Amino acid sequence: MQPGPVEIIQCPYCDNKFKKSTLMSGNTIGAKFWTDGKREAPMLPDSVVVSFCEKCSEYFWVEDAKKIDQVLYDSDKYSDLEFLKDLTLEEYIYALKQIDIRSDDDTFYLLRQIWWKYNDYYRKNNEAELSQDVEKIMPDLLEKLLNVFDENDDNHLLMKGELLRELGQFEKAKVTLNKISSDEYDKVKQIIIDLAKNEVSELRELKF
Ligand SMILES: [Zn+2]
Repeated sequence: MQPGPVEIIQCPYCDNKFKKSTLMSGNTIGAKFWTDGKREAPMLPDSVVVSFCEKCSEYFWVEDAKKIDQVLYDSDKYSDLEFLKDLTLEEYIYALKQIDIRSDDDTFYLLRQIWWKYNDYYRKNNEAELSQDVEKIMPDLLEKLLNVFDENDDNHLLMKGELLRELGQFEKAKVTLNKISSDEYDKVKQIIIDLAKNEVSELRELKF
């Protein structure tokens, strides 16, 4: 993994500044792939798309933050600034209510992050730590996500089928997965269909 320059960006709502790391190059060595479509690649970390400004208490889209400077990744300049932080599950849930929603893609992104962050607890076998408030609100949020998948998109169909399986709706899961037209997804599709046939609803790591 080769780090790129560090960008200095400004909160879209106030004068607070953040450091944003960039990547010159990365790879998927050691990556883990999961049935919900999440990829965990230590050598290719996901960039932060949504963040929170503690100074003005606003959630913001990182692409809306203006870049005001750029320094080498090992520079001491701006050492007092914090790096952009990814949100927690609870913060994504708040962000969905508070952030400026510019398009359906924004809603989809936030709901998918909520699903993946929720599933992270199962990925790490930490599900006992999920709060009751989150458990109460999740069925409604996952139902919303089911309704925003784009059925013309095979990748969305794959995720929708998986979410239906995780919710125990195995017949609907199989029907949805069988709508996938590209053979690019055959392997993963079959793994998820087989799990649905066996009425298994747990999240699984994909091992090829
Ligand atoms: Zn701010």
